[in-house]
Amino acid sequence: MKLRTRFAPSPTGKMHVGNLRSALYEYLIAKHAGGDFIIRIEDTDQERFVEGATEIIYATLEKAGLKYDEGPERDGGFGPYVQSERKVLGIYHQYAEQLVEKGEAYYCFCDKERLASLKTEVVAGMEVSAYDKNCLNFSPEEAKNKVAGGQPYVIRQNNPQTGTTTFHDELYGDITVENTELDDMILLKSDGFPTYNFANVVDDHLMEITHVVRGNEYLSSSPKYNRLYEAFGWPVPVYVHLPLITDSDHKKLSKRSGHSSFEDLLNQGFIPEAIVNFIALLGWSPESNQEIFTLTELVNQFDYKRISKAPSVFDIGKLRWMNGEYIKMMEFEKFYQMALPYIRQVINKPLNLMKIAEMVKTRIELWSDIPALIDFFEELPEYDTAMYTHKKMKTDSESALLILQEILPILEVVEDYSNKTLYEAVVDFVAHKEYKNGYVMWPLRTAVSGKQMTPAGATEIMEILGKDESLRRIRTGIELLSK
Ligand code: GLU
Repeated sequence: MKLRTRFAPSPTGKMHVGNLRSALYEYLIAKHAGGDFIIRIEDTDQERFVEGATEIIYATLEKAGLKYDEGPERDGGFGPYVQSERKVLGIYHQYAEQLVEKGEAYYCFCDKERLASLKTEVVAGMEVSAYDKNCLNFSPEEAKNKVAGGQPYVIRQNNPQTGTTTFHDELYGDITVENTELDDMILLKSDGFPTYNFANVVDDHLMEITHVVRGNEYLSSSPKYNRLYEAFGWPVPVYVHLPLITDSDHKKLSKRSGHSSFEDLLNQGFIPEAIVNFIALLGWSPESNQEIFTLTELVNQFDYKRISKAPSVFDIGKLRWMNGEYIKMMEFEKFYQMALPYIRQVINKPLNLMKIAEMVKTRIELWSDIPALIDFFEELPEYDTAMYTHKKMKTDSESALLILQEILPILEVVEDYSNKTLYEAVVDFVAHKEYKNGYVMWPLRTAVSGKQMTPAGATEIMEILGKDESLRRIRTGIELLSK
């Protein structure tokens, strides 16, 4: 049988990093085994539906490079792939009725007031009220009559009050729960829509999903899903429940972090390939200590048995580093096009922008690092002459003044302000005076940049600035140091 996984997002807004990780792992598990990756839109919760969210889902998958084999726009014979469309066809209703016939589900007519009066208990930190099976007291005929008479109803699962239910997860192993812990969850809501709890089982079966991969918040409901599979007599899929993703404070990655969604990360200038690579390692680790992966490499190496159960920490510093690695690997032409808007934020003068881009390519982690690295080309910043002092280079303001005064006339007569010629001129001077390289380069670079750290050396900077501006900056340095 062909391995089939599905990504089943609810269109409720931005694409959370956790959802993207589910999609990625589902894709990798399917593709690693030569199987199919399917998209199903779970829009049964009409109140949570957000306009435009479905488009975000498609755009994200496309940017992340996760091509799907079947989905709303690509029918593979298991459609429709949108739950609201499946509801219209009566699919969920029909299966819910089947369970009622089998005694595995029942109609419930309780109104809000009655439900609110039921005693609550705290499950997994949330207050829930376990339904007391009151409506099971109606005979099937009585229930049918009420439905025929137009009384609003829901259909609930009928869970046993004795015994245990066991299910298997590939990462967590066998998990057994007391049936008394299983509440009679709603399968079909009064608006005729199925709940997620019911629809996921029906659809995973009808779509022949073999591996259900999702966040571990669904672990506690899985025994109830298993009871549904058993009630229908359907094979239970392989379950892979993925660990929680936390922020550096070890709390669930939330919107407050500012980097919890794919869109947030793109807006901050992260490259889609780097994000995907980073997310692949949020829970999974390869056999080797390789960290940079193409999608194809991930497909080849992805073994879901190597996913950890421990929460994975979203380390934004690591993502920045990884993004820098992707920028280094990028073809120059593409890099240049992407870097240009950031260069133009601070450079208006007719300077050689391509050379400036070359300088920063290996020095940035994010596009937004660019402006602060290069703004000194546009204008010499105000700087403190203490910057001329460098212990290792054995320079101080006195030695710097001397050097700048000595080298100025030499640089005044150089015609060709190319890095090569300038470098030779400086090195000749260094050799002639028997100085150390740094003893000259440090003050020169400080004078022409006004910065402690620059993306290039003194002569490369002077090549970009040109003769007039370079000499002007050296004279300014002499002036500042003479005060
Ligand atoms: N619609 C569910 C969600 O977005 C899907 C969970 C699952 O993959 O089964 O969380």
